[in-house]
Amino acid sequence: MQKDKNNPVFNATWTYADAPESTNHIQIKKRYHLYINGAFTEPVQKSYFDTTNPATQEILAEVGNATNQDVDKAVQSAKKAFKSWSKLSGKERGKYIFRIARLLQERAREFAVIESLDGGKPIRESRDIDIPLAANHFFYYAGWADKLEYAFPNRKPKPIGVAAQIIPWNFPLLMAAWKIAPALATGNTVVLKPAETTPLTALKLAEIIHESGLPKGVVNIITGAGETGAALVNHPDVNKIAFTGSTNVGKYIQKATAGSSKKLTLELGGKGANIIFEDAAIDQAVEGIVNAIFFNQGHVCCAGSRLFVQESVAAIVIEKLKQRMQTLIIGNPLDKNTDIGAINSKKQLKTIKNYIKIGLEEGGEIYQPTCNLPKNGNWCAPTLFLNVSQSHRIVQEEIFGPVLAIQTFRTIDEVIEKANNTPYGLSAGVWTQKGSKIFQLTQKLNAGVVWANTFNKFDPSSPFGGYKESGMGREGGLHGLKAYIKFEE
Ligand code: ADP
Repeated sequence: MQKDKNNPVFNATWTYADAPESTNHIQIKKRYHLYINGAFTEPVQKSYFDTTNPATQEILAEVGNATNQDVDKAVQSAKKAFKSWSKLSGKERGKYIFRIARLLQERAREFAVIESLDGGKPIRESRDIDIPLAANHFFYYAGWADKLEYAFPNRKPKPIGVAAQIIPWNFPLLMAAWKIAPALATGNTVVLKPAETTPLTALKLAEIIHESGLPKGVVNIITGAGETGAALVNHPDVNKIAFTGSTNVGKYIQKATAGSSKKLTLELGGKGANIIFEDAAIDQAVEGIVNAIFFNQGHVCCAGSRLFVQESVAAIVIEKLKQRMQTLIIGNPLDKNTDIGAINSKKQLKTIKNYIKIGLEEGGEIYQPTCNLPKNGNWCAPTLFLNVSQSHRIVQEEIFGPVLAIQTFRTIDEVIEKANNTPYGLSAGVWTQKGSKIFQLTQKLNAGVVWANTFNKFDPSSPFGGYKESGMGREGGLHGLKAYIKFEE
């Protein structure tokens, strides 16, 4: 594409003054205990681990490492609380959930800053997406608490019991809200374990839950790594497991629970297809591609990590995409100008770098914009791969980072075939002006969510979940309630 020499906007390089969000208003304790039976409790073995800021490597706090005995205490407290909580009227349960939602809203700014510090995501995203959506989930499910009879008419919905909830590090508070809110609305009690690299907002949520006056033991929040998660999954008094995380761990949990009466929902990995037709609004589509893959550094299970562009517009789309990538601001997550923050952990950075190496070894053509990455911390430039095909590992496997694999297509049938040729089935995007094409694709794409002329849009009222190796069960909306109830025979 030709650059217009006379167009100052087109040729400008933009510089922005620093706009860091203040950290004066937040409080992070040096040490966090486990939240069990309504009290912050020392782990039985008194062992703790650090949580660090991935943008600077600074230690933010140390948090309890829950062992089997702590897991047992938390499950027993949830089991005991279930007796009275499950009998409370929906209206009363709803009051507590509304209170949690309002307290979260009041402290939204503090939560946003801590989410960005602990996880590395840009403050603009934690401030405008993660925290408000988390509060919305509590508001939404609070509204359902006294209407379950209407949600499932003539079916006498009953709570299941103790829900063990294990969540990942990409949307720490939001995932906690997705899990806790429907469980409480339906009368279950909870033991939640946040991911080991991002425990802080879940522990702050424990403070809010405490302040809300929720009866003790109804929500327990324990920290630890995979072993703690496994102990929770295998505990005999757990009645329901809700897991969001990697497909590998999901498979392990499915095996561990096979033959037991534990109810299970799994929200696992993805390799979303983002499909651009020649009749799409190209500039909007380019913006959509950026949002689909670079939102939250690509640490998104439903990211649009495979791009399919119709051949006739491929050259212009790719050129515009490269230009747009050149304008992305990568750096301090707390700066309000930042588009791409830090990679969540050293381990994840290593995984991403390894996939970039694999992409090159397999003959992919790489593009990265010129950018100065900060010296400390975990960083990865936004990356495109061209000249790749269906058999490339970077096309087939989930990278969970800012790496996009681009392929072209000629016909609708071809792109449907290619888009569905993956072990995953979580998300897809379609960009076209033709409504008929949208309907045709939404029916034929094997994905739990298909966005049309947009991407990565979430709402508490719409169900989310996958097919195939992306998991089973749905979260959000009415479907999300169903995962936490059983019906009286
Ligand atoms: P990632 O590999 O991207 O870190 P994981 O699936 O390992 O994603 O992590 C998601 C969540 O699952 C985290 O809270 C983690 O501690 C937990 N987890 C890891 N291994 C297990 C396991 N074997 N059983 C239960 N939970 C686990």
